[in-house]
Amino acid sequence: MKFNTKTVHAGVKPDPTTGAIMTPIYQTSTYVQKSPGDHQGFEYSRTQNPTRFALQDSIASLENAKFGLVFGSGLAAIDAVVKLLKPGDEVITGNDLYGGTYRIFTKVFEGFGIKFHFVDMDTTTHIEAKINDQTKLIWVETPTNPMMNIVDIEAVAKVAKQHKVILAVDNTFASPALQTPLDLGADLVMHSVTKYLGGHSDVVMGALVTNDEATHEKLAFIQNSCGAVAGPQDCFLTLRGIKTLHLRMQRHSENGAKIADYLVNHPKIGKVYWPGLPSHPNHDIAKKQMRDFGGMISFTFKEDDKAKSFRVMEKFKVFALAESLGGVESLANHPATMTHGAIPREERYKVGLLDSLIRLSVGIEDADDLIADLEQALG
Ligand SMILES: *Cc1c(COP(=O)(O)O)cnc(C)c1O
Repeated sequence: MKFNTKTVHAGVKPDPTTGAIMTPIYQTSTYVQKSPGDHQGFEYSRTQNPTRFALQDSIASLENAKFGLVFGSGLAAIDAVVKLLKPGDEVITGNDLYGGTYRIFTKVFEGFGIKFHFVDMDTTTHIEAKINDQTKLIWVETPTNPMMNIVDIEAVAKVAKQHKVILAVDNTFASPALQTPLDLGADLVMHSVTKYLGGHSDVVMGALVTNDEATHEKLAFIQNSCGAVAGPQDCFLTLRGIKTLHLRMQRHSENGAKIADYLVNHPKIGKVYWPGLPSHPNHDIAKKQMRDFGGMISFTFKEDDKAKSFRVMEKFKVFALAESLGGVESLANHPATMTHGAIPREERYKVGLLDSLIRLSVGIEDADDLIADLEQALG
């Protein structure tokens, strides 16, 4: 099946008892047994739930994976991956990560004796320099949040394979419509389903997919043992959201291109970060590993003026000032005070995350209205 058919059909079968075309919300904690141990494959909803199973199969299929699992949030999915490790193990990851990922790595798992190396993933030499016998996991995010840096997944996968290290990719920003890391050699893909997969800003959820049965078994064991499962109502909403993922991502990308073009030509704008721009330092890698470039754009002003950013953001009428991303509606975020406020200013400035930087999650509205909103706010 091709991607645009999978979004509509994968994982979803008519309900066997009624023929209902939509997977019902199996809002149940337990299942009645005929005789002790004689059941229909469902015992308790932390372990098995038909609505969750349908969604897990759907997301796995979109990522060209054999196995999928969903969790109560993106961070719960990341938590499960790190629990594959044990004290003394080491992880190599990027120095430009989602703030919550940085926080769980440093503030939670360093306390359990796991060591994290944060490197510039622009070339694999920095990764190879940190690999030793304790290295068990390489964690890649691409495109990164909010600097829109691109990591060459295929190149990192070669290094990971050579050293028998698991490569996990956070594919939240691209979504499987634009990028499928398992096809490029990654072992595991993680999603904050909250963003593009859900797509309607009404669910918090995470997902993991893999083709490796042994890894899947271990993660399923962790999912059941630690218990951070997603509820059936949220799984239903996400199944519904996924049906339009291909259409949404197409429009997010079209609108992203128009807005990036508008910003690049605006006299007040300094830098524009969008991987679809030929001026993006890793545009060629983005072109190689992504099918389109999405709707996430960051930009700065000619002068690094935080007050000016605030004035512009307060004037937005269509863009809503909010954290999160990936929904149908356009959002604007000030990373330095909102999503990335926990990162010290010197650290932020090292990667170009200035006080004046604004991050846009470009929605699926009419691009003319979005550009008119930018025009009046910048004017
Ligand atoms: C939001 C986000 C996460 C965390 O997901 P939650 O669903 O908020 O727990 C992880 N990685 C990236 C890139 C994100 O944008």
